[in-house]
Amino acid sequence: MELPFAESYKIKMVEPIKKSTRQDREKWIKEAKYNLFNLKSEQVFIDLLTDSGTGAMSDRQWSALMLGDESYAGATSYFKLKNKIKEIFGYDYFLPTHQGRAAENVLFSATVKEGDIVPGNSHFDTTKGHIEFRKATAVDCTIDEAFDTTLVHPFKGNLDLNKLEDVLKKYPREKIPMIIITVTCNSSGGQPVSLKNIKGVRALADKYGVKVFYDSARFAENAYFIKTREKGYENKTIKEIVKEMYSYADAMTMSAKKDAIVNMGGFIGFRDEELFKKACVYNIMFEGYITYGGMSGRDMNALAQGLDEGTEFDYLETRIKQVEYLGAKLREFGIPFQEPVGGHAIFVDAKKILHNLPKEQYLAQTLAVELYLEAGIRGVEIGTLLADRDPVTRENRYPKLEFLRLAIPRRVYTNNHMDVIAVALKNVFDRRDSITTGYKIVKEAPILRHFTVELEKI
Ligand SMILES: *Cc1c(COP(=O)(O)O)cnc(C)c1O
Repeated sequence: MELPFAESYKIKMVEPIKKSTRQDREKWIKEAKYNLFNLKSEQVFIDLLTDSGTGAMSDRQWSALMLGDESYAGATSYFKLKNKIKEIFGYDYFLPTHQGRAAENVLFSATVKEGDIVPGNSHFDTTKGHIEFRKATAVDCTIDEAFDTTLVHPFKGNLDLNKLEDVLKKYPREKIPMIIITVTCNSSGGQPVSLKNIKGVRALADKYGVKVFYDSARFAENAYFIKTREKGYENKTIKEIVKEMYSYADAMTMSAKKDAIVNMGGFIGFRDEELFKKACVYNIMFEGYITYGGMSGRDMNALAQGLDEGTEFDYLETRIKQVEYLGAKLREFGIPFQEPVGGHAIFVDAKKILHNLPKEQYLAQTLAVELYLEAGIRGVEIGTLLADRDPVTRENRYPKLEFLRLAIPRRVYTNNHMDVIAVALKNVFDRRDSITTGYKIVKEAPILRHFTVELEKI
């Protein structure tokens, strides 16, 4: 008999979590203005709001913290991280930042100006926010297949090279500071980009003299999918695949809270010194001195160790198999979600479930609230609230897809928790026709509104 699959780690420390009653949750979510970001974590039983900074560090990472060097300049922790970045990505220059969006702020301050055009594959919300904040435009060149949730395609994060070339042809080179490839593509469902596609983008970038940057939060999960789905890479190690991926980029921004399995941290990697020098000025201004940026020495140590662990096949297999386990349960119950299952999350197709609800009533948010009421599970809306308003017309932007994202923290929950999530969602799914009204906005911020928006039941 073939042995079943088991996790590539065992548990050394635990943290209690609390159940609640439906009555409790009705009160709490109302007080939270139907915004799940406003809930206290004690009001949540299983927290799938994000996989960002919510992972469990290993014993090796915790012990690395103790060796942190907190010197202001030239700390050994800085050099430990610098060497690890060189080893994993092949980049000679880097700047530490406090998280991914800080990396974007610094790098885009050095590269993006008013009127610029930044093509990419479904830019992440903070990335798009930082582009639009500078009065530049993000152009989405994701392949059309990504927008059909039932279609099984191994690399739904890919860029459509024809769409990309149209953009590169249409605008002068000075207007295009870079092409951004997001690996994996968060907004379209944690979907990977193939190395073939990456090479195609690089070839176009070279043809038109444009730089390529990677938004790298889940680069290791992307490499796992290349290894398991792309011909010619099955016998390569994750680290070999990552090295090859990054040989086609000029710079990278990293939210280390994802695939580097730390609770806080980020960095920018650079191939060439000129851009690094330019960005240094902004790093000092916004983040801190160039050898610590927004991080303490101990955190840089844990990050260096996390980069190493996060690019091990056994760890990645454990992680992605858990997401697939949840996906298989949902599939069994007939619940529609973005297929195939992404690396870090299940993206439940809210439009298909609450098809009677008008899009003006924020249907993915409605589904998120229902799941919370059902079992104290906190997911997040990836839909109209997240899409913000058009910066020019100030009208709501209605994205092609409305998702309830169930992000799975790294090394945190067991498959028993996955079983609870699946059944809770099934119960909501079974009573979907009785959910006939959604929500309206009472208060919102001008940009990145989903974090603080206040809603009212219609
Ligand atoms: C999380 C994330 C960011 C932003 O990083 P933070 O650490 O949350 O600031 C940028 N891009 C992608 C793809 C992400 O997933």
